[in-house]
Amino acid sequence: MATDLQIYNTLSRQKEAFRPLNAPHVGMYVCGPTVYGEAHLGHARPYITFDVLWRYLEHKGYKVRYVRNITDVGHLENDADEGEDKIAKKARLEQLEPMEVVQLYTNSFHQSMRELNNRPPSIEPRASGHILEQIAMIEQLLANGFAYESNGSVYFDVTTYAQQHDYGCLSGRIVEDLIAGAGNERRVLEGQDEKRNAADFALWKKAQPEHIMRWPSPWSDGFPGWHIECSAMSTKYLGDHFDIHGGGMDLLFPHHESEIAQSQGSCGHHPVKYWMHNNMITINGQKMGKSLGNFITLTELFTGSHAKLAQAYSPMTVRFFILQAHYRSTLDFSNEALQGVEKGLKRFMEGIRTLNKLEAQAESSFEVDALIASYYDALNDDLNTPILIAQLYETIGYANKVQAQQESLNAADLQRLQQAVNTMVFDILGLQEEQEAGSQKLDGLMELLLELRAQAKTNKDWATSDAIRDRLANLGIQVKDSKTGSSWTLS
Ligand code: ZN
Repeated sequence: MATDLQIYNTLSRQKEAFRPLNAPHVGMYVCGPTVYGEAHLGHARPYITFDVLWRYLEHKGYKVRYVRNITDVGHLENDADEGEDKIAKKARLEQLEPMEVVQLYTNSFHQSMRELNNRPPSIEPRASGHILEQIAMIEQLLANGFAYESNGSVYFDVTTYAQQHDYGCLSGRIVEDLIAGAGNERRVLEGQDEKRNAADFALWKKAQPEHIMRWPSPWSDGFPGWHIECSAMSTKYLGDHFDIHGGGMDLLFPHHESEIAQSQGSCGHHPVKYWMHNNMITINGQKMGKSLGNFITLTELFTGSHAKLAQAYSPMTVRFFILQAHYRSTLDFSNEALQGVEKGLKRFMEGIRTLNKLEAQAESSFEVDALIASYYDALNDDLNTPILIAQLYETIGYANKVQAQQESLNAADLQRLQQAVNTMVFDILGLQEEQEAGSQKLDGLMELLLELRAQAKTNKDWATSDAIRDRLANLGIQVKDSKTGSSWTLS
């Protein structure tokens, strides 16, 4: 490969050459969903982004262990360690067991990921299945003096930690502001907070009597904090120092900042070499939110059943839409944008089919190596999928010219180009042909008809060959003849 993979590391705020800690092995952890509701548009972006990264790393020969968790306990309604557990609340509202809520939405999340053609991760650990590991990490933090117990709950001591380490190194937050925050004064005045400082965060929460999800611990019957889950599960499956940690920018603070502090505080060093964050999706320029009425689930998107949707959009349209923006750019969803992408994808896939059907000539009239190198240059530049797609469109332009006999390719060049393009489109971008119902049968029927028509032409039975062409035209199917054979399109 001409160049190395460069990825933008949120920790250093610059692009860095990707050098795994233990090549050819790569460990990658991505924060999974909190399964208390249907997967939504905002979930599509991180999981597509890191699916493409995973596919590309494997293409480059790395052996990747991709861990993506399921948060099924401990994610409270707000980041200040207050409010109800999101899953327990849903269970109460719907009169279900919390684990029924978890299973229901885990299943629907998996279904949506399959439809988007995201491959299932290597390991998908559940937070509730790793309580012992979380308790062990909390005990280590207590022993190291970075945590304290208060009324059966345990909190991370940000003030003590910040005297020795850089709390804020990832998110750029100023620790003095966090410690002396306005919320702190209120808490101190009220004198009823378990925390010593508002910046401290929960590692373990004592369960209230009505709280169903609870486990025994040295401190109380309770449940873990959200941040410790990811630290414990990533350490268990990837070790205490691994290559890539990904997630949405909304998780930078406090979630990922706290993960770093927990690892540093318990094992004495940073857990992750490269932190990667995707930017958010807005809807008509607005942040997505339940209160704004623009909260669109993936199922609604695929079926068109939401008031804000002019139509249904197929999973591949959504995937292509997301890949046509760089993962660190904002991306605005609108019906107009998606309708444009839907048309673009149709043209794109038609172009790929054209390329795959081309016939080789004696000589090549243009250079394929430069085209192929441009695909790798795009991906190596911090996974720049929009540039890759632009280069593939350029390739399709050449393919159309070869078909029209304005350009030509010899057999070796054609085969190399087809192989490189198919690898990019299907293996790395993870696009797939979407067959509408019955269209596979239509393909078979058309193949049969065109064969019969070719036979008629060979037999100089012009009446039959013209009749087939004209009757198909009446049905809205255009047959195009060229020197190399016939093709058809639906008009
Ligand atoms: Zn996480």
